[in-house]
Amino acid sequence: MKPSTPFSLQPHNSFALDCFTDRFIEINQLADLEQLTQLSDESFYILGEGSNTLFLESQAPTIIKMDLKGITVNETDDAYVLNVAAGENWHNLVCYCLEKGINGLENLALIPGSVGAAPVQNIGAYGVEFADVCYSVNYYDFTNKQMLELSKAQCQFGYRDSIFKHQYKNKGIITSVTLRLPKVWQPKLSYQGLSDLVPPITAQVIFQQVVAMRSAKLPDPKKIANAGSFFKNPIVSKMQYQQLSQQYGKVPHYPQAEGNIKLAAGWLIEQAGLKGYQQGDVGVHKNQALVLVNYGGGTGDELSQLALFVQQQVQEKFNVNIVPEVRLISHNGEIDFLS
Ligand SMILES: Cc1cc2nc3c(=O)[nH]c(=O)nc-3n(C[C@H](O)[C@H](O)[C@H](O)COP(=O)(O)OP(=O)(O)OC[C@H]3O[C@@H](n4cnc5c(N)ncnc54)[C@H](O)[C@@H]3O)c2cc1C
Repeated sequence: MKPSTPFSLQPHNSFALDCFTDRFIEINQLADLEQLTQLSDESFYILGEGSNTLFLESQAPTIIKMDLKGITVNETDDAYVLNVAAGENWHNLVCYCLEKGINGLENLALIPGSVGAAPVQNIGAYGVEFADVCYSVNYYDFTNKQMLELSKAQCQFGYRDSIFKHQYKNKGIITSVTLRLPKVWQPKLSYQGLSDLVPPITAQVIFQQVVAMRSAKLPDPKKIANAGSFFKNPIVSKMQYQQLSQQYGKVPHYPQAEGNIKLAAGWLIEQAGLKGYQQGDVGVHKNQALVLVNYGGGTGDELSQLALFVQQQVQEKFNVNIVPEVRLISHNGEIDFLS
């Protein structure tokens, strides 16, 4: 625990927003957790590496920074079982596994952020989600001051969703995750860009291809501050999708198990004419319409006004509501909607 005031969060959010907290609590060891039970009346936000976070105001609430470290690897006859502390970096974990010959995380290479945040929105890319490799999530419950081990089923994973965004939001903190990676490796090649790889295909080959594709497509937050996809891909009814494709021709779409259709939010934003759109120091990235960027001096308020504008334009043109994937944090804690 290391409270200090006022503490700059600029190095702790990938939008590089210049905001402050009066209380920055670092969790470096399990014993630090006990003190979090006293936070019940205080607005707070649990922060990993801030790569999916938009601080809306210059004042942030109390920040709990998860910094627990450590990776242990055990083996069963048919799988590697890893316990990884929440403060480890996700991409470093992917590299660590590949170096040890443990395959299965390669499609999830180069996703920024911490291991502890991975279950929260069930990170996913190139046809693989965190849920696919998760065995359980270890969670410290503030009320009962107890460690819980939540099975994968109990985590209620969905598209960019889990129980940690709902019932367990702010009720506790993820301390580590347990991953189960089968020793018999099955490459996941369904995604465009991987399906045309030429044999021999190894996890290392997939890793390199994913890194190359991501580096070409997505702006590096260290060069242009951003938080990746700002909006979730919206899911609409089959009827609405059919109406849209009658009106607009070929609409990129992904059929869902229950008959609904997922649309590409980036395509909708681009078709609304907003790719490369700029308002002062913030804008829609010129190559990747789903990514909002801070060119340097932007503020959280400017980014949220831009996001609202994008949302309204898409709604007007397509009658489709796109909602932020990025977490919106006011001085009072998290809020659910842009306003
Ligand atoms: C360039 C770029 C590309 C990206 N690409 C992808 C992608 O391909 N796929 C994808 O899914 N995401 C992507 N993202 C989003 C981001 O990488 C993920 O959301 C990541 O999991 C965020 O990790 P973080 O530690 O930075 O989380 P933060 O932004 O710090 O926090 C995110 C959420 O997790 C909660 N949280 C964090 N740690 C804990 C904990 N220990 N216990 C409980 N709650 C916690 C926070 O309270 C918050 O609600 C991208 C982001 C960027 C900048």
